[in-house]
Amino acid sequence: MSASTYAVRRANAMASVEAAGLDGLLVAPGPDLVYLTGHAPPPLERLTMLVMPVNADPLLIVPALERPLAEMAPGAPGLSIADWRDARDDPYALVAQALRPGRYAITDHTWASHLLALQRTAADRAFVSTGETLPLLRAVKDADEIERLRAAAAAADAVFAEIVALGFEGRAEREVATELARLLQEHGHQRAEFMIVGSGPNAASSHHEAGDRLIAVGDAVVMDFGGVMDQYCSDITRTVFVGEPTPEQREVYDVVRAAQQAAFQAVRPGVQAQEVDRVARGVIAEAGYGERFVHRTGHGIGLEVHEAPYIVEGDATALKPGMTFSDEPGIYLEGRFGVRIEDQVVVTSEGAERLNEATREVTVVA
Ligand code: ZN
Ligand code: ZN
Ligand code: ZN
Repeated sequence: MSASTYAVRRANAMASVEAAGLDGLLVAPGPDLVYLTGHAPPPLERLTMLVMPVNADPLLIVPALERPLAEMAPGAPGLSIADWRDARDDPYALVAQALRPGRYAITDHTWASHLLALQRTAADRAFVSTGETLPLLRAVKDADEIERLRAAAAAADAVFAEIVALGFEGRAEREVATELARLLQEHGHQRAEFMIVGSGPNAASSHHEAGDRLIAVGDAVVMDFGGVMDQYCSDITRTVFVGEPTPEQREVYDVVRAAQQAAFQAVRPGVQAQEVDRVARGVIAEAGYGERFVHRTGHGIGLEVHEAPYIVEGDATALKPGMTFSDEPGIYLEGRFGVRIEDQVVVTSEGAERLNEATREVTVVA
């Protein structure tokens, strides 16, 4: 991504800061700093902070020993950098100097220790969470980001296509998870971050960790996996059956699939995030499983695997072209089995497009 991309993002962020009636934005290491500067230092006890006051130039404050790294960041051209040295300078005083009294949004990834020190040093400034005041900072993706998300999703699809060839019967959930991680890396992921494998009764627990249970004929197996490829996240869920599903398993599968499809078809610009949730929930409730759909329909995805907007009652975000999020309804029958189907989708000018294309047909494995 070019330096001008980052300059545009910073300008857009400042417009949102002003629109929210804030005096500036403070950004600690994490996805917001990557998004606004391309700089990705490890979050540590030494303070790194991008200070963006309204009506003044942004300033990136870094530890002196990380200055060369900061200068090499793709978004660094045009950005003023100030450094501070151990034992000589007070980095919190440097931040405070750049801030007029006022109210500043500070990114949610800021360590509590840094925020507490800032509050002591700049006692007449107020700090508020970006999650509460600027939740949509990274929500609308540009074409380059959508391409990266699409590539990460395609890799996850390829992993699913390969995992179904694995014999499931008699294998421990943990072995399937290990194989998913290996395949994610083989398909270009730098990191495999989560590999949920829930079989039989464990499939009824939506965030079950893969364990020692041996997978058996008659099981539904929920696999929810993903990671990071080229900085952007993948996240897919498919449920497979070991041997022919029972009529009840098939019925539940069909309801989840219909809910997932109905939610997808409800996505278009101007629709509120919570309305998409209502559509998925309506299909499942209609089939009599309303109480068994125990989580939100989806979450935004980008540099983070869970980010705004959230497809849940109470999130009134009006969807815009370029927003990306998951569509992942599920039904969980405690002690017996569960089904979830998850794709990532992108809002287009007329509706939505799926980033995942792995089959959603009933899939029987050995
Ligand atoms: Zn999750
Ligand atoms: Zn997932
Ligand atoms: Zn998800």
